[in-house]
Amino acid sequence: CGVVGVYRNNHDARVDKLVYYGLFALQHRGQESAGIATNDGDFAHFHKGMGLVSEVFNDTIFEKLRGHIGIGHVRYSTTGESYIANAQPLVVKYRRGSIGLAHNGNLTNAALLRERLEDDGVVFQTTIDSEVIVNLIARYSNEGLAYAIERTMDLIKGAYALVVMTEKELIGVRDPYGLRPLCVGKLDDGYVIASESCALDVIGAKFVKDVEPGEMVIINEKGMSFKQIEKEVKKSSCIFEYIYFARPDSVIDGVSVYQARKNAGIILANEHPVDADMVIAVPDTSIPAAIGYADTLGIPFGEGFIKNRYIGRTFIQPDQTMREMAVLIKLNPMRQTVEGKRIVMIDDSIVRGTTSGQIVNSLKRAGAKEVHVRISSPPVAHSCYYGIDTPDRNQLIGAIKTVDEIREIIGADSLGYISLKGLKDSVGIDDDPFCHACFCGTYPIEVPEASCKKTFK
Ligand code: 5GP
Ligand code: SF4
Repeated sequence: CGVVGVYRNNHDARVDKLVYYGLFALQHRGQESAGIATNDGDFAHFHKGMGLVSEVFNDTIFEKLRGHIGIGHVRYSTTGESYIANAQPLVVKYRRGSIGLAHNGNLTNAALLRERLEDDGVVFQTTIDSEVIVNLIARYSNEGLAYAIERTMDLIKGAYALVVMTEKELIGVRDPYGLRPLCVGKLDDGYVIASESCALDVIGAKFVKDVEPGEMVIINEKGMSFKQIEKEVKKSSCIFEYIYFARPDSVIDGVSVYQARKNAGIILANEHPVDADMVIAVPDTSIPAAIGYADTLGIPFGEGFIKNRYIGRTFIQPDQTMREMAVLIKLNPMRQTVEGKRIVMIDDSIVRGTTSGQIVNSLKRAGAKEVHVRISSPPVAHSCYYGIDTPDRNQLIGAIKTVDEIREIIGADSLGYISLKGLKDSVGIDDDPFCHACFCGTYPIEVPEASCKKTFK
């Protein structure tokens, strides 16, 4: 998911369009639903809908989204089904006013907390873990929002980057491990909090800093301040943000996503070189890695596929047949480029193996003489419980097959994955402040019982 929050000092100013543009920039983080909530100092207004940001909002809707504080969310579902009640931001009313919340990540103890709250008589309207958070915040809000969030952070476990809003304040917080990204920027007359820096660029905000793991950013009429809530943390930010999830023009925790991808291509070339006529990328995510790979081995880089930009990310399609169809609709090989050539095809990851299998095949049909597949992440062999919707382990081809078996299944002439060390080196931060559990199986935060991933369904 992607989250954004905007606060403008002038109470007569509006934030609706700024939040909207921010969500546009974060659309790659989720395409199932989008929502904006604003607050004009007295009342909360909100609108949510299924689909892309461009489909959910129009001028009539903007009319009612008044206010100088606002938050927005684009959803990619991990817990809870994909339907409108589960769209965010969540807005709840309580004794003192309203609280709006947008959440990126996955709690690992939500089922337990939800049970406890239900025992206390709390009723839930959605099946998402974020509703547990907003309930806890409302429960502790007698002494202000910051205090309520602090108390809530004592109870919730797992991955969260939150933006929370009341009539007076906008607060952002990142979980103590920093699993999901969050950064803040400054406008001439206010502030922005967003999942990725590309949203700040689009809104015209100047990057201030990344929110640190366990840190809270508080924005109100006094300005912007920071508070470190959880002190002893072992930072474990999601390394997959650099591989696939984030936009290449974002800088996360001081590292350019584009540069990290390009470095991964260079390292991949050194780890798995091959004699070939052309390097191609599976667009768009793998282009920087393919350029790095091609430059390093002195092989020309070419456009091997034309991507249909009007269909969403295939991984996010709900079932296997739709996923396979979507790959073919989305990526068509360029016969003119690949015919008669020995091709190196770079992709960022193999999850189920759907994409690679389909497109290696289509490259061969288009006349490629050889197809050598190189992957800029190690085999995905474990599920993610922190907000990326990797399937159950038994559907992860990297968990159930060897590299050579995978090569055979996808029909490639050779297959090489970057090593975990190579991947870490590509991001270039010493002392390994990353989560890489989906590759190595060592989870930084205890994961729920195997069945818990399904608890909310
Ligand atoms: P597969 O087809 O093997 O199941 O998934 C891998 C392909 O899906 C890659 O081409 C990758 O770019 C794309 N993809 C789309 N969404 C995701 C995601 O959320 N995570 C990962 N790892 N890959 C994704
Ligand atoms: Fe990211 Fe993988 Fe860790 Fe999930 S398990 S947070 S995808 S690195």
